[in-house]
Amino acid sequence: MAPRFKRVLVANRGEIAIRVMRTCRELGLSTVAVYSEADRSALHVRQADQAYCVGPPPSRESYLSQDAILDAAKKAKADAIHPGYGFLSENASFVRACDAAGIAFIGPPASAMDAMGEKTRARAHMVKANVPVVPGATEPFKTLEEARAFAEKVGFPVMLKAAGGGGGKGMRRIEKMADFESGWRAAKSEAMSSFGNDAVYLEKYLDQPHHVEIQVFADGQGNCIHLNERECSAQRRHQKVIEETPSPILNPTLRAQMGDVAVRAAKSVGYIGAGTVEFLVDSTRSFYFLEMNTRLQVEHPVTEWVTGLDLVRWQLDVAQGARLPFLEPLHPRGHSIEARVYAEDPGQNFMPSPGRIDYLRIPGGPYVRDDSGVYAGYEVPRFYDPMISKLSVWAPTRPEAIARLDRALSEYVVKGITTNLRYLRRILQHPDFVKGDYDTGFLPRAHDQLLGGDDAKLTEVAVLAAAVYAQQRAEKAATKISAATATGTQGSMWRHGRQR
Ligand code: ADP
Repeated sequence: MAPRFKRVLVANRGEIAIRVMRTCRELGLSTVAVYSEADRSALHVRQADQAYCVGPPPSRESYLSQDAILDAAKKAKADAIHPGYGFLSENASFVRACDAAGIAFIGPPASAMDAMGEKTRARAHMVKANVPVVPGATEPFKTLEEARAFAEKVGFPVMLKAAGGGGGKGMRRIEKMADFESGWRAAKSEAMSSFGNDAVYLEKYLDQPHHVEIQVFADGQGNCIHLNERECSAQRRHQKVIEETPSPILNPTLRAQMGDVAVRAAKSVGYIGAGTVEFLVDSTRSFYFLEMNTRLQVEHPVTEWVTGLDLVRWQLDVAQGARLPFLEPLHPRGHSIEARVYAEDPGQNFMPSPGRIDYLRIPGGPYVRDDSGVYAGYEVPRFYDPMISKLSVWAPTRPEAIARLDRALSEYVVKGITTNLRYLRRILQHPDFVKGDYDTGFLPRAHDQLLGGDDAKLTEVAVLAAAVYAQQRAEKAATKISAATATGTQGSMWRHGRQR
């Protein structure tokens, strides 16, 4: 096996930098933080063994500056760089620069990133690998006329998308041909300003699908497995707000099918490390490849909860040449849900609410995990994504996980800035969420209910619904536990083996 890393630089900030450093610490690895001038007093800087300033506040001049980050890694004598998510995590040229500098990049090879980086290129690769993709184009359009003709063929509504897009940006739903030209111009200019690349293509707009993604993991010896799914349909402006696993809409057969396809997708591009294959699932439960994220995902804690694994540890091991520790499918154990806590004001159209946190109380109790990047007295800067924490829980059943996350959110106190905590609780208490009956249209549909009206009424409905479901599940579980105890298989759910 390759020599062990001694020192890891984390090329990121906030909660994810801290998350990665926690595992490094547990493994006895020394940690190096990088920070912008706006982040001098950030928590990730305080928690690292060493820290280097990499430039002024705008990310372009600091967290996205490949030279500054590589300089810091060389000065610190880091053996490896973990990119977290966002920033340089999916930048193939950075991977090549790390390779050239002799510093290990903790992530897939540049070639796999190239293949999956642009949405159109990824779609073309997937079509070749026999992976079903959302119907649409596999190349950006050269002219408006070409795009129009394609839209006509696919049928409205269509979704115009930036080929180099991400983060829910550069997407435009178009209902009819009369709106096509203005939508096309708007999509192109948004693509240019957000991604520096105005290439646009289109997909058929699926009617309120589910977003279900599969966590995959591959080692450098050609082994690749999946670690089950995450349901990420609670989205606002195409961005995830709440994620859970298992998905309320998957059965073991569909899970196995999607898992196999995800593994095929990853293998077809020579993938190594942690990756996520995202799918849209329609009302007939047909599923289509959406894109692959070639990095650790924001919502990875829910997978860690139900598998008992530390995915960052796996990333570090695989980057040092280790084999995957097992190759059989893994049974998910119990249920996990995560809520993204944002410094934003739902009452002001979710405008970011940076500023000083005067008081902070973090929830606790059994099976509650807070991945946070802030502390009391900290000033949330205005330059970066306003997510301040991810609160996740585990429980034996979905209703219990909902109740636990709601309870944990009720303990969360952040003073000095506005947060979406109340909005998150209202989602969890919404009858459709409680029933597990929600798709990507849920949050927009429930917008008024989630923002206005009477808290008490909503809670009453939810409590009732939760009680009914909890009762049903408890009855089922009781039968299962007694059967398992009788056959001596209780507790085997953490082990791996064929999925039932
Ligand atoms: P990004 O890379 O910007 O996150 P994605 O392609 O992953 O964009 O899509 C984000 C979300 O947008 C999806 O989870 C889904 O809710 C919605 N979406 C994307 N493409 C389609 C489509 N063709 N039809 C319906 N909804 C879509």
